[in-house]
Amino acid sequence: MPETTRRVAIVTGAARGIGAAVARRLAADGMAVAVVDLDATATATTVSAISSAGGRAIGIGADVSDADAVRAAVDRVAGELGGPTVLVNNAGITRDNLLFKMTERDWDAVIGVHLRGSFLMSRAAQAYMTEAKWGRIVNLSSTSALGNRGQANYAAAKAGLQGFTKTLAIELGKFGVTVNAIAPGFIATEMTAATAERLGMSFEDFQKAAAQQIPVGRVGQPDDIAHTASFLVSEGAGFVSGQVIYVAGGPRD
Ligand code: NAP
Repeated sequence: MPETTRRVAIVTGAARGIGAAVARRLAADGMAVAVVDLDATATATTVSAISSAGGRAIGIGADVSDADAVRAAVDRVAGELGGPTVLVNNAGITRDNLLFKMTERDWDAVIGVHLRGSFLMSRAAQAYMTEAKWGRIVNLSSTSALGNRGQANYAAAKAGLQGFTKTLAIELGKFGVTVNAIAPGFIATEMTAATAERLGMSFEDFQKAAAQQIPVGRVGQPDDIAHTASFLVSEGAGFVSGQVIYVAGGPRD
């Protein structure tokens, strides 16, 4: 795509893990990418990986659950790269505990990053998408949306994102904007490494145990999600909207 028509994408939580893989992939697809994460310095690795592969990226520090920070971040993207018409709401945290031990702070933190964060980012970015009469929003849900012991906060947020996705798809469709969700199963990242540590298992043993339950016989990698995101934000995916795609190495119901 020539520089003048290059799409501008924002990927949140893109300093590492799934977000970093998505950012690199969208850049390889020809998009200019804003790599957003809590700490601006943490975005440097992703930004330089994109730059050294010949792509265009900027790193921005912003807490997606902070309305002022989101507004400033999206304004900066528009100023430096152009109006963002692709948004991947990927930033996420876990604060796992059984219900009787879950604190209000852990509930609010998880709901705040996933749900409020995706709401704030989408509200800010949609202005550019509706103006361009073209846009793509992808929200990161999870198989945990179907229920997962110790994750009442996270499961509620990820199930909430599915309703959010479908509603935005209905509201924004007439502007050429599609909105979809990806619901990953087990993906090897620092998030799942931290879960292994919490359970007192080595990450290797944790992955081996998980792979035994997965029909394709392996755990997922960040690139598995990046590939799906690349499809959903592509020009040709304009008739796919309001969907939740489980990327989990097998079916989920
Ligand atoms: P990860 O390795 O923990 O990376 C998440 C990134 O998001 C981190 O760089 C983190 O920054 C950033 N972040 C956290 N809170 C933020 C905020 N308020 N504002 C901006 N950035 C923030 O996680 P991951 O495994 O790649 O997961 C990415 C997404 O996929 C999440 O939404 C997650 O729930 C979802 N997901 C993951 C899996 C899996 O198996 N890994 C499965 C299903 C769904 P800090 O390092 O500063 O905290």
